Amino acid sequence: MKKKIAIIGAGIAGLTLANLIKKNSDFEFMLYEKEESLSLDDGFGIQLSTNSVSILNKIDFNKVDPKDIFHPTAIDFFTIKNEKICDLEISKFNTEYSKYTTLKRSTLIEFLKDEIYIQHLRFGKRIKEVTELKGKVLIKFHDNTNDLVDYVVGADGIFSNTRSFFEKKKNQPSFKKAIAIRLILKTKHNLDINEKNISLFMGSNLHLVIYPINKKNELNLACIIRDKKYDPDNIKSLIERRLLTQNPNLEDLFKGDLKSWPLYSSSKALPSSNKKVFYIGDAFNGFLPTLAQGAGQSIESAYELFNLIKDENLDASNVYFTTRSERTKIVRRRSNFNFFAFHFSSSFMQKIRNFFLKFLVKKKYFIKSYLGTVYKS
Ligand SMILES: Cc1cc2nc3c(=O)[nH]c(=O)nc-3n(C[C@H](O)[C@H](O)[C@H](O)COP(=O)(O)OP(=O)(O)OC[C@H]3O[C@@H](n4cnc5c(N)ncnc54)[C@H](O)[C@@H]3O)c2cc1C
Repeated sequence: MKKKIAIIGAGIAGLTLANLIKKNSDFEFMLYEKEESLSLDDGFGIQLSTNSVSILNKIDFNKVDPKDIFHPTAIDFFTIKNEKICDLEISKFNTEYSKYTTLKRSTLIEFLKDEIYIQHLRFGKRIKEVTELKGKVLIKFHDNTNDLVDYVVGADGIFSNTRSFFEKKKNQPSFKKAIAIRLILKTKHNLDINEKNISLFMGSNLHLVIYPINKKNELNLACIIRDKKYDPDNIKSLIERRLLTQNPNLEDLFKGDLKSWPLYSSSKALPSSNKKVFYIGDAFNGFLPTLAQGAGQSIESAYELFNLIKDENLDASNVYFTTRSERTKIVRRRSNFNFFAFHFSSSFMQKIRNFFLKFLVKKKYFIKSYLGTVYKS
């Protein structure tokens, strides 16, 4: 009998796993999403380093229209006053087949949904109850439908509701006292940057990232501001108080449609207590966005799990958790360190950081161990 898998949540992690199963195995599977449609929100860019692009290429990501993606070659570091500090060549991790890629999140979701949308995706599905039955898991949904499966994969994001049905131990993510603000820049701006690169501006208690997301001159802007409270109605005033006081010339950037949300991350990864249940993506561990690895790790975790299930590894549960938590530790440490180092408020500390940064970006060994271990494909 063919094994059957239920994937809960149609974000980047769940959709990647679904594509891998569809293209490379004969398992039965169904993707259950709580919303009534996929979020194809335009105002959101995403960076994919080579570790995730090489996996996506196994499901034909290389066939995406080149006009809809971009391959930046470097990260340019600036002070918040737009003074260049140094640059780091990220294209050195590229191979002929997998290149550091930036794109709209909606472009990635459109690509991932293509093959599975009609046959393998069900909307408006929320788990109501789970029971074990003859070595399988019976999932009952709120709309009175049910599914009897061999494996359940929780891919329902950082606040994973799937966990609450299977785990006694809570893995509550913590609010990092920081707010993310995003928009797409379509018009000209007055910044002195190379629009083909990723530009990173570091200020007191905040940083700003601007990068191209396609070949239509659209740029994604993400601004992370440390603030104790998230007040979605006062984002403009937060920008005025905290960012524009550091550089009033940035005002024009924030004229568009702003989207904001509070930043959460997981403090540790917890194993699944059921050998038939796995967690991937943010449901396994949510990262701070300061290493741009959230989507990449979602894709990697889907790939690791797929390989174990495909090979019917009898110890899949342990092997998956051990491998994933090792990887998570590396990425979490670097994301947290960047979050700390990008935001120094004292000008003395900023000068020391900038001095070290200029020095370190030239050190091949450091770059290889700091980024190479993360970007390895
Ligand atoms: C400011 C910011 C910038 C970022 N930038 C980058 C970047 O440049 N590069 C990068 O790699 N990552 C980035 N990330 C992180 C990245 O977006 C996430 O890590 C990634 O999207 C996680 O994917 P996921 O599929 O695990 O979860 P999600 O994207 O959260 O998807 C979960 C899905 O599950 C569904 N769902 C939720 N609950 C249920 C339920 N009970 N039942 C059924 N379905 C459910 C949801 O509706 C959703 O469709 C950024 C994040 C932030 C906050």
